[in-house]
Amino acid sequence: MPGVMPHDIIDLDYDLMDGEVEFNEVGLNEVELNEVEGVFDSVCAFCDDGGEILCCEGRCMRSFHATVQAGANMCPSLGFSLGELHGLPRFVCKNCEYQQHQCFACGKLGSSDVFSGAEVFPCINATCNYFYHPHCVAKLLYRENKAAAEELERNIVAGGYFTCPIHKCCVCKQGENKEDSQLQFAVCRRCPKSYHRKCLPRAIAFEDIEEEGITTRAWEGLLPDRVLIFCLNHEIVEELGAPIIDHIKFPGD
Ligand SMILES: [Zn+2]
Ligand SMILES: [Zn+2]
Ligand SMILES: [Zn+2]
Ligand SMILES: [Zn+2]
Ligand SMILES: [Zn+2]
Ligand SMILES: [Zn+2]
Repeated sequence: MPGVMPHDIIDLDYDLMDGEVEFNEVGLNEVELNEVEGVFDSVCAFCDDGGEILCCEGRCMRSFHATVQAGANMCPSLGFSLGELHGLPRFVCKNCEYQQHQCFACGKLGSSDVFSGAEVFPCINATCNYFYHPHCVAKLLYRENKAAAEELERNIVAGGYFTCPIHKCCVCKQGENKEDSQLQFAVCRRCPKSYHRKCLPRAIAFEDIEEEGITTRAWEGLLPDRVLIFCLNHEIVEELGAPIIDHIKFPGD
């Protein structure tokens, strides 16, 4: 279960230059550029806990516990030995190395190589690290409008941008405001679903409410200015205090 504060991001002396140049080109201002440094995920992609995590220098921006020892609580980790870890000049995950990323809606792997038949495409939001099949994301964004969904799907295939569903509260459909605690987002780590703090249903609680059979699904202090949640679509496994860890797929697994 998540619980450790995310402090010790392993510093392999990575170099953000590529990222910065890229972000500059799309015209972000200085304030937003500063945020780019915080764009790496602050918790492990497998177990959603902090501690000593290793950041992928590819485009996924995810972090992972690198060794079995670093990731307590059933985290499979990347399975590196300490020797392997310290011998790494830089770390790029298998998804980024082979340009095969998972769709955050359906979980399936697809090519993200824009020069060779991409099947999954990244959300345009600069701080968002998720990829989607055009069909999957269009269906989520236009649940009740099939024609609009089909049009968006075609646009994305043709290279059009999209902003994925996590940037709007699923209850009130409004955006995030990190400055106002009630308007901060609680984001599901397993599917594209976000709530404002003020819009969180009672069943997504910060602590167990035994009388009502409610188990903890929300944690403070793991994501910067956000609440980490597992939404009601995912069963919490009692021993883990979290959903089963079977959601990460690497190519060739
Ligand atoms: Zn982990
Ligand atoms: Zn990666
Ligand atoms: Zn999909
Ligand atoms: Zn997004
Ligand atoms: Zn809301
Ligand atoms: Zn969810």
